[in-house]
Amino acid sequence: MTSDAPSASMVKALLPESEMPTHWYNIQADLPEPMAPHLHPGTKEPLGREDLAPLFPMALIEQEVSQERYVEIPEAVQEIYRLWRPAPLIRARRLEKALGTSARIYYKYEGTSPVGSHKPNTAVAQAYYNASEGITKLTTETGAGQWGASPAFAGQAFGIEVEVWQVKASFESKPYRRMLMETFGASVHPSPSDLTESGRAFLAKDPETPGSLGMAVSEAVEVAAGDPEARYSLGSVLNHVCLHQTVIGEETIKQLAMFGEGAPDYLYGCAGGGSNLAGLAFPFIRENLAGAQTQIMAVEPAACPSLTKGEFRYDHGDVAGLTPLMKMYTLGQDFVPDPIHAGGLRYHGMAPLVSHVKHLGLMDSMSVEQKVAFEAGVEFAKAEGVVPAPESTHGIAGAIGKAREFTGEPGSGPSIVIGLSGHGFLDLPAYESYVHGKLD
Ligand SMILES: *Cc1c(COP(=O)(O)O)cnc(C)c1O
Repeated sequence: MTSDAPSASMVKALLPESEMPTHWYNIQADLPEPMAPHLHPGTKEPLGREDLAPLFPMALIEQEVSQERYVEIPEAVQEIYRLWRPAPLIRARRLEKALGTSARIYYKYEGTSPVGSHKPNTAVAQAYYNASEGITKLTTETGAGQWGASPAFAGQAFGIEVEVWQVKASFESKPYRRMLMETFGASVHPSPSDLTESGRAFLAKDPETPGSLGMAVSEAVEVAAGDPEARYSLGSVLNHVCLHQTVIGEETIKQLAMFGEGAPDYLYGCAGGGSNLAGLAFPFIRENLAGAQTQIMAVEPAACPSLTKGEFRYDHGDVAGLTPLMKMYTLGQDFVPDPIHAGGLRYHGMAPLVSHVKHLGLMDSMSVEQKVAFEAGVEFAKAEGVVPAPESTHGIAGAIGKAREFTGEPGSGPSIVIGLSGHGFLDLPAYESYVHGKLD
């Protein structure tokens, strides 16, 4: 798609608050083939609403299976979104120049949120629906703390107490996000802890265990399931999480128009559990189903390429096999990826919705090595002045590779949109490793 009149010097598309989306987009309404249902881990029958009721509020359970195309964003959620939304769409003119590309590169920047990533888009919605149903406590797990900080912020906004189990290794080695969670008023426990039965069992087996996300999930779920006023909160993978993230793509469509652009030729985003990519890409897939031709690329780490190298089959979401079976691209519930710095991309599976869309041929995927990702992240930081989250550098690496294929008159090539899911200010030690040549 060539642009006749993108403003010659415009760099930022700042959508007015009044143009913020009022509805989330539910791609389930438009899928050419419906996705496979989640299954009960014991009976292997399709999951009933009552199976999920101890863990999630009914409104979110309904959204998980909803076929409604547009879901209204409650005013109380919009009010909090307006603290940082609409998020900017920025033309990366200096990056284009540094690369010598004729492509027009844009990035949708989610780093302006309270925790510096896209994750509060769903945390705020989840806290709202829990509070509406009288829930007083949310439990969750977190690794480096990117997710935990999001319900920590969102919970207090709706008067909900938030309790986070953080993988012990991260709790001890990466204190800043724990401090952020505590600043927002959450209580944070190293996992495994002696506060739960499962935690005590993990500790009895190995008192020195560094913990894992799988163990932390068990603890958070146990506490939620045992307290009628508590529920559990998940930051990626599930359908309702992908739904909440679609504000990203809906804003981007309007902002591209401000630049005089139609549907982009290429869209790149990183994929761990798949939620930020789903949020950016699903509205563009809607446009593709109506005739647009955006090529959508999920970029994964080479250390954990579930979409690119995994099998499309039913698998558990957790290590212990306690969570529902979901049909998705997976490397297997036992797969333990190398400890790359992009912790948010170290998940063995992929959101069932993203998996389904890839299976239908509506999305492609690729993987990049950690070094290549950081190289791209540093190039981006130098040109644009934004240090990307280690996760986000994967999407940038994919886009830079594509942009380099196009030379010639600046601006005369294709348009490329990058999902910049967050900033990397709390991940600077990872950049230090790269800069000093200590990255594996
Ligand atoms: C958590 C996180 C991710 C990965 O999660 P998705 O569900 O795949 O979006 C990506 N980028 C950032 C900045 C994150 O914090």
